[in-house]
Amino acid sequence: MIYLDYAATAPMRASARRAMAEAMERVWGNASALYRAAAEASDLLEESREILARSIGAEPGEIYFTSGGTEGDNWALTGAVEASGLADAHVIVSEIEHHAVLHTCDYLESRGFSVTRLPVDEEGRVNPADVEAAITPSTVLVSVMAANNEIGTIEPIEEIGEICRAHQVLFHTDAVQACGHLPLDVSRIHADLLSTSAHKLGGPKGIGFLYIREGTRIGALLHGGAQERGRRAGTANVPAAAGFAAAAREALAVQEEEAARERELTALLFSLLQENIPETILNGPAIGEWRLPGNLSVSFPGLSAETLLIWLDLQGIAASAGSACTTGVLDPSHVIMAISGDERRARGTLRFTLGEGTSEQNVRSCAEALARKVRELYDRHR
Ligand code: PLP
Repeated sequence: MIYLDYAATAPMRASARRAMAEAMERVWGNASALYRAAAEASDLLEESREILARSIGAEPGEIYFTSGGTEGDNWALTGAVEASGLADAHVIVSEIEHHAVLHTCDYLESRGFSVTRLPVDEEGRVNPADVEAAITPSTVLVSVMAANNEIGTIEPIEEIGEICRAHQVLFHTDAVQACGHLPLDVSRIHADLLSTSAHKLGGPKGIGFLYIREGTRIGALLHGGAQERGRRAGTANVPAAAGFAAAAREALAVQEEEAARERELTALLFSLLQENIPETILNGPAIGEWRLPGNLSVSFPGLSAETLLIWLDLQGIAASAGSACTTGVLDPSHVIMAISGDERRARGTLRFTLGEGTSEQNVRSCAEALARKVRELYDRHR
């Protein structure tokens, strides 16, 4: 199989598998108990927390393990709104956030809170001036993703964070796609809250963390034991934390070199498609510093993404129509609709996301197979 869906999930790194297997065999005690086996589990948990904290320039006490990106996003938004104590609390997000943020906003609205969804430009970028203009005395939180999962747009989060800081509004960024792939530093971003997910960088599924800046007012997510400093109760998943830390350490070590390699391969895939299919439209920013290195989102207006994905699958190529979470749902992508308002374009959109296992030959084979089918379909409709 040629796997070009790394943004949906990445294969687990050998280092992460090893760390987990070792933890499961050797360090299976309950990290909260008082005997030696528990202390070993607790030590491994804290070591993992420290590695992850360092990867984003945070303190270990500011890292709260979660079950992944969805949980972190839900917690950041609902936790900040509830802790504000304001009956009319207001939240600002972009129109192209992941559904983990957007559907949480729907939920907050159903509870009587208000939400502003900011439009983006044709490359998917949020204008920081729009964020500032939308802030009201009731605004509690701004949430803008670090990088978009469908079209790869890297958002100007440092500027947005600075505006939030100046207005004393909390800033959350969903860094699920950025973490491990781009440098992240919570001080530079001025982030109060930042969510991540291990499986997007070669760690296990079912674990992530929410960074909560020291002193941030946010309610507890799960009530019960004293784990995660009383804010997220439940017996710690030590093997998953160890796997996450091992994966993050490796991702960071190869980050710069790998980003350059993936950017080149992405540019090659795009140019091969463009050469053979002049109808190809690139979604999101030009391939370069404002785009996730391994992301290529392209539209073939008038064609059906489902048809193309089935064809690619038959050729042994795995890709996506948009974010993994919406594949299989026939609604056009909210992200492509936000940047273009064009349903024909949205319905003919494919997302290829490259990763460490992607070779030049994979890219050439994919371009050749796809171009053959797209040409055939366009010629038939002519
Ligand atoms: N946020 C973004 C930007 C994502 O891409 C995803 C997953 O695709 C999520 C949140 C949800 O993460 P998880 O699968 O860990 O719940």
